[in-house]
Amino acid sequence: MKIGVLGGGQLGRMMALAGYPLGLQLRFFDRTAESPAGQVAECVVADFNDPEALERFAQGLDLVTYEFENVPASAAHFLSRHVSRFFPPPRALEIAQDRLIHKQFFAGLGIPTADFHPVTSREELEASLAATGFPALLKTRRWGYDGRGQYLLRGRSDQEEAWKTLGDTPLIVESFIRFERELSLVAVRSSTGQTAFYPLTENHHRQGILRLSLAPAAEVPSGIQQLAEDYAQRVFHELNYTGVLTIEFFYVQGKLLANEMATRVHNSGHWTIEGAQTSQFENHLRAITGYPLGSTTPRGYSAMVNFIGCVPDPNALLAIPGAHLHLYGKSPRPGRKLGHATLCADSRVELAALLDQLQKLAKC
Ligand code: AMP
Repeated sequence: MKIGVLGGGQLGRMMALAGYPLGLQLRFFDRTAESPAGQVAECVVADFNDPEALERFAQGLDLVTYEFENVPASAAHFLSRHVSRFFPPPRALEIAQDRLIHKQFFAGLGIPTADFHPVTSREELEASLAATGFPALLKTRRWGYDGRGQYLLRGRSDQEEAWKTLGDTPLIVESFIRFERELSLVAVRSSTGQTAFYPLTENHHRQGILRLSLAPAAEVPSGIQQLAEDYAQRVFHELNYTGVLTIEFFYVQGKLLANEMATRVHNSGHWTIEGAQTSQFENHLRAITGYPLGSTTPRGYSAMVNFIGCVPDPNALLAIPGAHLHLYGKSPRPGRKLGHATLCADSRVELAALLDQLQKLAKC
């Protein structure tokens, strides 16, 4: 089976690697040559607005999926006309691309979120901040990821600077949540309607970028996993969804507030490659091809550490028992995700000791 994937980043690279044992052929579409996925699989290098290149990409494909959500909707619609199966559905992509639309989508499904308000003018900013109070976060509606396109307002005096920084694009203001933990759910629904859920993962961000994931999240109160799965089921049902879906939550006072959904495989699910019976990448491929889903049961306890801007010495890293290294084939640049390592252990105590060693190395 031939699968086309829009985007050729590290998520695509790991998807390609999961596809080989299943005999699946993946063809990527990316704006840049030497993309992480383009180094391991066929890749059409062109702009997403190039219809001739999209047509070339679509030739002979059985289905199309994507590995990053900033695919222009026009390209998604073009391809959904040329290839009969496009998963997850283009509507999911359109919702995920816009922070306001996806917060409104959550609200429509009864999934709680932080208080949010659309902002298109200084007056609206003023009125929204009067409703949320301080601190508050001003975010761009589109093209924001890894904490980009965000401004933290601590008080009224930050308003002018925040508007100057982001005011040239449609915005959303959110109340600042003093969460106890950040948790994410990686869920998957097959084209046959079968669903599966990984255990909630605890995530730690710095400067808006994911640094560490721990799975399964420790001491999740009873009912919270079920609640997260129920929220994902609502999204699945509403969108007639096929593929992996990730919802990021703030956990506060026994409640889950949805912050963001990614209609694709997700960084907080990388631990599943070695830490679960079936990885998120394999399950995404199984879901879109209609194969039975694999077990999402964890193999013990896992930690995933991202390497941002630099990579530790592989010799030292691989000497840590239970450590697995993944490098994405990117040249180093500050703030760039270059790779990650996963640790797997039989107990949380053992995991904590190994993680301590890994984190010392990761401060490169
Ligand atoms: P986002 O780009 O919306 O995924 O946000 C990136 C990170 O910023 C999140 O994982 C949180 O750590 C933090 N963050 C985003 N929105 C809020 C909020 N409303 N309150 C507190 N922290 C937030």
